[in-house]
Amino acid sequence: MTSISRRFLFGAAAALPAYGALSTVLPGAASAGLSPIGQQVPGLYRYKVGTMEVTAVSDGARTSPLADGFVKNASLAEVNAALKAAFLPEGQITAQFNPLLINTGGKLVLIDTGNGPQSGGATVGQLMANLAWAGVKPIDVDTVIISHFHPDHINGLRDDEGALAFPNAEVLVPAAEWAYWMDEGEMSRAPEARQAAFKNVRRVFKDIETRVQRFDADKEIAPGITSVATYGHTPGHTSFVLASGNDKVFVQADVTNLPALFVTHPEWEVQYDMDPAKAIETRRRVYDMLAAERLLVTGYHFPFPALGHAAKDGEGYRFVPADWSPVL
Ligand SMILES: [Zn+2]
Repeated sequence: MTSISRRFLFGAAAALPAYGALSTVLPGAASAGLSPIGQQVPGLYRYKVGTMEVTAVSDGARTSPLADGFVKNASLAEVNAALKAAFLPEGQITAQFNPLLINTGGKLVLIDTGNGPQSGGATVGQLMANLAWAGVKPIDVDTVIISHFHPDHINGLRDDEGALAFPNAEVLVPAAEWAYWMDEGEMSRAPEARQAAFKNVRRVFKDIETRVQRFDADKEIAPGITSVATYGHTPGHTSFVLASGNDKVFVQADVTNLPALFVTHPEWEVQYDMDPAKAIETRRRVYDMLAAERLLVTGYHFPFPALGHAAKDGEGYRFVPADWSPVL
């Protein structure tokens, strides 16, 4: 047995009985039998960007009924037609959540933190379990970078007791995002529907103001990781470019929500876009750039492992998933 598979078996898996008996999950294990296991395998996918090692770490996925108003400027019939065209079930939406772990060579960096701890049976909040499968302990993470302050990106900063989930990590946040959400005036002027998000931001960042570092756009904020202003989805929504050697990946966060809807129809307004006109302008600018430069992109809400390219396609774009690779 190699040291890696030993670590996999006795380190990560031992802490995770939820993934089922080891004899049934490990390939080649004795007496696996023919019983269905009934659970998904770990949500991890690894790739290299130059000398950086990147791991897509799934936080899970959530399915909800397609609400009228999920796309503010398209009818339910139009949205269902787009779902059908992508061979997805009509009348429902499945959002995936894909934090990204980056080993820069000197530092272990996590971009976004998922939905945080959930009660039993939840299909999200799986970041910690998947990190454990990857052999990463929360104390190993040096830096957490946040793209924006919506709950599905920041709630994983706290564990189920409210303590810091990554106790040794510095926390880097977009300065423009912090300025908006921490402003009492903005909170008092915000519509009722947004009050919960303001309160959640205050809960998550309570008492850690001093360890949070705010960064500006177009700055290298960690080795090989540069912030890119992609405002519109939220006032300080930020994407990132990972660059090493000749390799580059654009980490778009929520420039588009589900690719089957919003890459295909970049003019559609997802209900979470706080400044829809600006979000559309940003979407066009980013996707024109991705298509022209043939740049790899990873999207937080894309289907796992959320990596691929964008091609121009009529008035919109087409997401082309990258091939799975068995080697790094
Ligand atoms: Zn999101």
